[in-house]
Amino acid sequence: MQDKIKKEIINELLPNEYSTEQSVIKNYCIDWRGDFEGTSDIILFPSSVAKISRIVKICNKKKIPIVPQGGNTSLVGGSVPRKNKGEIILNLSKLNRIRKINLIDYTITLESGCILENVKKELEYSKMVFPLSMGSKGSCQIGGNIATNAGGVNVIKYGSLRSNILGLEIITYDGEVVSELNDIKKNNTGLDLKQLFIGSEGILGIITAATMKIFNQPKERNVLWIALKDFKQTLNLFSFITKTFNDQITSFEIMNKKSISIIKEIEIKFDVKNYEFFCLVEISNFQGIDNFYEYIVDRLKKINYSEIDMIISKSESENQKIWNIRESIPIEEKKHGYIIKHDISIPLEKMEEFIINTENQIKKYDNKAEVINFGHLGDNNLHYNVMIKDPNKVQQKKTEIRINEIIFNNVRKCKGSISAEHGIGQLRKKDLLKFRGGNEIKKMKLIKNAFDPNNIFNPGKIF
Ligand SMILES: Cc1cc2nc3c(=O)[nH]c(=O)nc-3n(C[C@H](O)[C@H](O)[C@H](O)COP(=O)(O)OP(=O)(O)OC[C@H]3O[C@@H](n4cnc5c(N)ncnc54)[C@H](O)[C@@H]3O)c2cc1C
Repeated sequence: MQDKIKKEIINELLPNEYSTEQSVIKNYCIDWRGDFEGTSDIILFPSSVAKISRIVKICNKKKIPIVPQGGNTSLVGGSVPRKNKGEIILNLSKLNRIRKINLIDYTITLESGCILENVKKELEYSKMVFPLSMGSKGSCQIGGNIATNAGGVNVIKYGSLRSNILGLEIITYDGEVVSELNDIKKNNTGLDLKQLFIGSEGILGIITAATMKIFNQPKERNVLWIALKDFKQTLNLFSFITKTFNDQITSFEIMNKKSISIIKEIEIKFDVKNYEFFCLVEISNFQGIDNFYEYIVDRLKKINYSEIDMIISKSESENQKIWNIRESIPIEEKKHGYIIKHDISIPLEKMEEFIINTENQIKKYDNKAEVINFGHLGDNNLHYNVMIKDPNKVQQKKTEIRINEIIFNNVRKCKGSISAEHGIGQLRKKDLLKFRGGNEIKKMKLIKNAFDPNNIFNPGKIF
């Protein structure tokens, strides 16, 4: 980037709101998994909407590409610059005020740089719940969550993030601030522009703030940790639990044997090798039921305990211990060499067929490969990751191509999705073209052009 333009941008900011030091910048150029690493001459940390607006205006005039970045926990290489493309990083972490908590309409208005975990803690003081939770909550930011339409572990209860967003404030290519931060749940006045920005992965503009729904905190929650012999039994359990506990269920997670066996320190009483699947089910007491533990035990009596092993937590610290197992899988997995990762969704009625056929075909191609399969069963979502150990196949492009082919063919057969919650970013660009029709892609590109005629927002992502 020319020094003159750099100066013009820097002039809008205080000294602590940017860096041109490579020792600082390089930390923001690599993604969480370490799979995508780019370069940049400058990183910006603007602290106000007005500053971002002026910077976007300059960038649009001079055609400088901008990579919007939140907590940089994207798992598809969406939040880092590419190599040598002159892209600047616009990190939102300093735009981090909670503007308003409205306890009458049950809404919160907050800026994009707020860290998810901080928002959740802040709402606890008002005995309220933010309807999103996931393993990256200590780093990811609300703007990033909205730009990826993040899923997480509570979709079964609160629905997707999209269904909880009432209004957005965005900055478009010309630097204009488009603000519709409403506390209202019904609003049929013309086109609903916010829907385009939810899940847009930074390619349409900068999200600076949002108004979102919040919910009453449950009085308590208990977690069931259940060990199962096969997927049929898992599905029967899912069906029984959803009928029995209905909207008291706040999470329903599944983990296969391999995903549990990679965890080093684990305080669970079952012998992992005797089971194929484990489920974590969180049941929450929204109604203020007395003796909630006994209430759960009583309702579970219909299950045949001789076939199923189950622990029911009795305290918040026991809840946390069980949740730690689930949350440590992506972190432990990172330590295990060459893993080909997928974030897919499959209708429940086809999931057993998918699991059996896909694993058989993978084993036929490479009998040393192992499948780490875990995810949000309650919303059809599997993180289906294949660990390659054969030295002749490790780190080989052709291995990845073949494994992807097997998985995607089975996803297609089962009418599932190749990206359930992580998005497209750089990782799934080519696959998107195979899974969404040509006419659909054309229309998506028309929208991109209308909102970003100079292609300054996160170029090279999604398309
Ligand atoms: C351990 C772990 C667990 C995870 N679990 C889940 C899970 O359960 N469910 C799930 O959905 N995801 C999960 N993820 C993925 C990731 O955390 C989410 O995609 C998250 O929403 C990204 O937020 P972020 O602030 O880190 O965004 P970033 O990674 O910084 O950015 C993500 C995308 O959004 C764009 N963007 C960021 N901020 C803005 C903004 N203000 N305006 C416009 N565009 C913007 C970026 O350009 C990029 O394309 C997990 C990741 C990790 C590392």
